[in-house]
Amino acid sequence: MPEANRSPLEAVDLHIHTNCSDGLLRPEEVVLKAKELGLVAVGIADHDSVSGIEQAILTGGANGVEVVPAVELSCIHNNNDIHILGYYLDYQNQELLDFLSSVQEKRLERAHKIVGKLSEQGINIDVERVLELSAGASVGRPHIAQALLEQGYVNSFSEAFWKFIGYHCPAYVPKMEISPLEAINLIKKFSGIPILAHPGSYHSDDLIYILIEAGILGLEVWHPEHSSNASDHYLEICQKNGLLVTGGSDCHGGRKGKIFMGEVRVPYHYLAELKKKRFGA
Ligand code: AMP
Ligand code: FE
Ligand code: FE
Ligand code: ZN
Repeated sequence: MPEANRSPLEAVDLHIHTNCSDGLLRPEEVVLKAKELGLVAVGIADHDSVSGIEQAILTGGANGVEVVPAVELSCIHNNNDIHILGYYLDYQNQELLDFLSSVQEKRLERAHKIVGKLSEQGINIDVERVLELSAGASVGRPHIAQALLEQGYVNSFSEAFWKFIGYHCPAYVPKMEISPLEAINLIKKFSGIPILAHPGSYHSDDLIYILIEAGILGLEVWHPEHSSNASDHYLEICQKNGLLVTGGSDCHGGRKGKIFMGEVRVPYHYLAELKKKRFGA
């Protein structure tokens, strides 16, 4: 169906990971699953990677699912991990690709460091297995958690985080440190629209106002970790401050126990607003 004919109430999911970062589904599988679930558009928002977008667009084109190119950048603010989504950024721009490659390299170094810290504690996982699990994608702690689970050091994925690799845990290693301001400016430099991912994770409205000052253009109002009261609260902040509104399932393809895709259904109307911003209408 041509985009212009979309009903404002049709459902979209603007935050999905593929196996190009720490999701389990390939980009084409994400798109086909979205179609099966009745979603008319999906945002492919891998951590620090845009490499799944092209395949998703191809599959989407053949199956009538609109694909919104995006990225989810990690940044550090006052020692907290803040995620910023960049929608419609120019994912083919060479300078952006070079920047993301440098992030991948840092992630690789970090994976080695985490495995080293684990081995100091008598936990011996094979870094080669971690890299095999990440299969050339943006390597992250979920791949390490999977290796720990496989080798019986933990009984669940989340145990790996609270025992070993989560924030403040013995084998925690931070990622490359860019500030939210740098992430926002980077996204804008490549014509993207910066949106604060899952604001509920940071437990601070002050942070939202700091990021508005820094140039954030919207909030991810709907997310599986937001209660309906929290979503109402963020929606109100958006309305009062003229911010864009997005939402998504943060699907990792079942890595977090269930798929999540389809559980957050955002009316197409909000995507239409995002697109207007992109086209400067
Ligand atoms: P990284 O980007 O390598 O720091 O890994 C962060 C990713 O790990 C997040 O995007 C989640 O997918 C996952 N993650 C972080 N904390 C947890 C947790 N406590 N339980 C399960 N998954 C988590
Ligand atoms: Fe993730
Ligand atoms: Fe996130
Ligand atoms: Zn995410």
